Amino acid sequence: MKTVRTVADLRHELAGRTDIGLVPTMGFLHDGHLSLIRRAREDCETVVVSLFVNPKQFGKGEDLDAYPRDEERDARLAEECGADILFAPGLDEVYPDGFSTSVEVGGLTDVLCGSARPGHFAGVTTVVTKLFNMVRPDVAYFGQKDAQQAAVVRRMVADLAVPVEIRVCPTVRDEDGLALSSRNAYLSREERAQALQLPRALQARDRSVLNGIEVDYFEEADFEPRVLAAAVRVGGTRLIDNVVLEGEDR
Ligand code: AMP
Repeated sequence: MKTVRTVADLRHELAGRTDIGLVPTMGFLHDGHLSLIRRAREDCETVVVSLFVNPKQFGKGEDLDAYPRDEERDARLAEECGADILFAPGLDEVYPDGFSTSVEVGGLTDVLCGSARPGHFAGVTTVVTKLFNMVRPDVAYFGQKDAQQAAVVRRMVADLAVPVEIRVCPTVRDEDGLALSSRNAYLSREERAQALQLPRALQARDRSVLNGIEVDYFEEADFEPRVLAAAVRVGGTRLIDNVVLEGEDR
C-alpha cells in the first residue's frame, strides 16, 4: 500500500487503474471502517482509503481538535485489509486559500443530526464531492451506522448525476452491542456502560430505556431503508446509532 498526500501523486498512482473503490474515513480506524475496506477489496480491482479529518463538518465547540488520530496505525490496518492506496491529504490540498464552494443537500438535512448540527451535512457533502473528484471512484462505500449521512450522500449523487455508485454496509458493533465509533475512545468505563442504553433502547424500540443520559433525538426516519435513529450525549460525547425497520409494521 502506498500513502499519497496530493492529487498529483494520487493521479500518478491511479494512472491506468480501473474499477476503483473509495472508502472515505476520518481515520482512527476500527472494525466498522475495516468492514468497508474489506468489502471494497472484494468488489473492486483498486481500493483507495481516504483519511481526512474534515474541519467543515465540525461545528463551533465540537471535538475537531480532540478528534483521535493515529495515521501510522490506520495505515497498517488499511494495508492489512488490502487497501492499495491511502490518500491522506493535508488541509491545504483539500481547502486551498480562497476555497469558497459548498455543496448542500436540502430537506433531508433539516432533521435529526442536521438540525442538531447546523452546517454538518454541508461539510460532509462538500468534502465527499471533493474526494469524489480527486479520486474519481467507480464505487464509494459508506456505513449504515451514519444512516442520515448515507441518505444525504445518495441524494447528492442522484441530484448532481455524480458518476459513482454508493454502497452502504451494515453497522458493525462491539460484542456488548455498542456501535463502533472513533468517538467511543472518549468514553470512560462508566460512560461506556451508560452508552449501552443506546443500542438497547433502539433494539427494544423503547425510548424509556434511555435513562440519565441526554437524548438529542429518538425518531423514525425514512432514509430508504426506514430506520429508528437516535443521538445521545454521554458525558461530553455525542453518540448516534440506528436500527433498520424494514419489514416491520409502522
Ligand atoms: P468516519 O471515519 O466516522 O467518518 O466514518 C467513515 C465511514 O465509516 C462512514 O461511512 C461511516 O458510516 C462508516 N462507519 C463508521 N462506524 C461504522 C460502524 N460501526 N459500522 C459500519 N460503518 C461504520
